[in-house]
Amino acid sequence: MLEQIAEIKNLFNKSLQEIKTLPDLETEKIRFLGRKGLIATLFETLGDVPQDSRPVIGQQINALKKEIEIHFSELKNKLNLLTAGLQSVDITLPGRALPVGKRHPLHQVADQIKAIFSSMGFEIADGPEVETDYYNFEALNMPRTHPARDMQDTLYISDNLVLRTHTSPVQIRVMESRKPPIRIIAPGRVFRRDTPDASHSPFFHQSEGLVVGEDVTFADLKGVIESFAAQMLGREIKVRFRPSFFPFTEPSVEYDFNCVFCKGKGCRVCKNTGWLEISGAGMVHPNVLKNVGYDPGKISGYAFGMGIDRLAMLKFNINDIRILFENDLRFINQF
Ligand SMILES: [Zn+2]
Repeated sequence: MLEQIAEIKNLFNKSLQEIKTLPDLETEKIRFLGRKGLIATLFETLGDVPQDSRPVIGQQINALKKEIEIHFSELKNKLNLLTAGLQSVDITLPGRALPVGKRHPLHQVADQIKAIFSSMGFEIADGPEVETDYYNFEALNMPRTHPARDMQDTLYISDNLVLRTHTSPVQIRVMESRKPPIRIIAPGRVFRRDTPDASHSPFFHQSEGLVVGEDVTFADLKGVIESFAAQMLGREIKVRFRPSFFPFTEPSVEYDFNCVFCKGKGCRVCKNTGWLEISGAGMVHPNVLKNVGYDPGKISGYAFGMGIDRLAMLKFNINDIRILFENDLRFINQF
């Protein structure tokens, strides 16, 4: 009897090695555990065993039966998992691409501006977006009654606090905090009370530039702007300066780049002029230098602005400023 039990155990171990599929498993289960299976036969022959050894033999058969049941059930789980896995994985499908994040086109342009000016020895400066009236206007030679304040549609937070209308307040903050020489750019977001359309947005991005020291001249300003244009948009870009007016610079200019789309021949984008307006610039007004405690007799400087959104639109041929801020992935993914 004990030999029979051992033999069935051997048979079972062999069977476990050979079962590869769920139907195999069912067949083998019936062979061992079925109503007329090997274990049942063992129990039937138990009657032939002498009375006194019956309980011990009976226990051994029961133990074997339990062992077989446990192993079959584990194997069944394993085969089930394998089958489910095989059904849900089509190994002929191409791999799934993981989306990789990248810089927003505006940040790409801002990074490029920073890199170009850094290479010319400029530092990157920063200032608050909520400004006091003093830094946004008064220190920049625009007292409360100055008509130039009408040039900007300002978003006021209170009588004395505004959302900065330009990055120029950073000039004042930097000059107040240290002595010349100073060579900074200050990129950032600015706000105007504008109705959004293809070329206007209630907020947009500018970079301020400021160079202050002894013997800083208008020729230096021209050189820096021309060098920037060449590095940003290519050597063939020409720069034009036109007289203009800003309260915080004297003399003041506006500067244009020749049209990147038609190379200056004239097209719809440049309204057939061959030129695209970029921003304003000029020599820092003596009153501004006085406001920060510098002596305009000894110290001079130039300042310039540039629209980051405008440069991004030129660089990437974008005709509506609003899509820069909508964060539509179909648009952003193109850069
Ligand atoms: Zn053009």
